[in-house]
Amino acid sequence: MVLNRVLNILLFGLGVQASTGYLGDAQQQPMSMSKTGESNVCAMHGGSLPSFGYAKDGSHSVSALSPTLAIRPLAVSGPPENRVDLVFFSDGYTIEEMDKFFTDAKRLADDISQNQTFFTVRPLLNFWGAFTPSEESGIGADGVPKKTPYGLYREGTELRAVYYARPEVAHAACDSMGDQCNYPILLGNDPLYGGLGGEFTVITSSILNGPLVLRHELGHSIIDVGEEYDGGFAYFGVNAVQDAHEPVSWDHWLSIPPSTSGSINSDARVERSVMPMQTYPWTLLNTTQSWSIKFPASGLYFRHVVRFSLSGLPEATDLRVELDGIELDWVPKEGLGLDRWHYDIHRDGGLSDGEHILSFTLLNQEREGVAQLCSAEILEFGDEDEFVSSPGFYSLYPTFSDKNETSYRPTNEDCLMRIVTSPDLCKVCTEGLWIHLLKSVNLIDDLTESCTHSSSTWTKILTLDLVPLAHLRNPEENNEPINNESYAIIWKKDGIVLDEFANMTSIAIEDNDNNDQVLGRYEVFVKFSTDEIRLDEEGRTSSSRVYDVTTHCEDD
Ligand SMILES: [Zn+2]
Repeated sequence: MVLNRVLNILLFGLGVQASTGYLGDAQQQPMSMSKTGESNVCAMHGGSLPSFGYAKDGSHSVSALSPTLAIRPLAVSGPPENRVDLVFFSDGYTIEEMDKFFTDAKRLADDISQNQTFFTVRPLLNFWGAFTPSEESGIGADGVPKKTPYGLYREGTELRAVYYARPEVAHAACDSMGDQCNYPILLGNDPLYGGLGGEFTVITSSILNGPLVLRHELGHSIIDVGEEYDGGFAYFGVNAVQDAHEPVSWDHWLSIPPSTSGSINSDARVERSVMPMQTYPWTLLNTTQSWSIKFPASGLYFRHVVRFSLSGLPEATDLRVELDGIELDWVPKEGLGLDRWHYDIHRDGGLSDGEHILSFTLLNQEREGVAQLCSAEILEFGDEDEFVSSPGFYSLYPTFSDKNETSYRPTNEDCLMRIVTSPDLCKVCTEGLWIHLLKSVNLIDDLTESCTHSSSTWTKILTLDLVPLAHLRNPEENNEPINNESYAIIWKKDGIVLDEFANMTSIAIEDNDNNDQVLGRYEVFVKFSTDEIRLDEEGRTSSSRVYDVTTHCEDD
């Protein structure tokens, strides 16, 4: 009974296919992406991939058998061969928890693609859930996986990285889906923060943190960018420059600075900030002794932020956070429970020249054993003329690595690659997202030929199926056109532009048997525009197709 149900779901899932009479340009490329791409290991603020004797070149055992997968569509926009397909694979969900898995996966897909993050590119994406029952519920701890398909586990009990013990099984599962699996996501049945980026995106079903980790890790793997937050070790891609004197990859997004002080050259300046302290203690707190750290300040800045992340601290009365003995009035995220969260406390005024002390004091003894300080950081800023802190300003903002090397990012805090609790990408990353997705998605899904007949006249119809962007977006999702999106469409027949069919997705030509005016070579050129793409050097927003009409309607 259960097996039958599973198979039915599987067939339903795989049944979403469409044929393409693809004739056109060479834009479409086979998907390899994350299956063979380099690993950007990120567990957001710490974590590194342990070794399993797994080949460094990413090769894997081809003999590993894929587990049985029950596949359901979660949000499907088009044929898998012309979409980027993201698949959630279940780990730590028993057969009784199958519905919970699909509910968790659907919630995560919706969280990152409805009204935020991946919303505008959603017509380029498909989301699927692929369920395999686990013998045991939940994920492993202290380095020991449970009896689950992919063997997810934490090292110790830290709410940080979640690793996988059986990558060969995950490979086989994704490979078995062919075109339908471009980005495998291993979803662990665990209510608390955790994850890992790289070849497989690993996340948990944490209500607050699952989407947060997922969109950040997908940012790495789909856009192919590094971090924007401080204290990492990988800063690369469209959102990073290493040297303020080198060409800025986002110079077409730069804002006009309010003053010219600090100018590097005529069109890019560095926003004035410094990081006097950052640390990742990952330490359990106790009521016997405060955790504190001393750091120096120069007295040369005007504002600062105290940034930290905590777990196991659900109540404001559980913890006191102080800077130089002054309480910072930390308040936990609502509805957090024992999960991890990131906090920013912005303060006007500079830190004086000399030594300062930041301290965390556990007040509630009952939290001992779970209350944890994960990370802490101090940043100082110039005034608003020297450091524009407001959203929407694009410039060169210094980012400080784990070795305190400086690179530069496009915005202060507009991007979820920096502020992991933020739901959206900056414009630079968003543009990169479009361009990377359009390497794998052709704007033209299909071009088909048909005939209609009325009062002894035949009409030949050519119908263009485009990826549903611009005016073709689902009207239930969009009442208003977004970001000035548009499709420009040009039709040609035998090299001559058919002006009367400009911007039409369907053209009708009278098919009179007495002459051959309908027969010939048709070409269609499509150009997509959106405010989110300013620079498209590789022509990813254009597509074309050739179609030969060789028969009359009456001959068919
Ligand atoms: Zn960004």
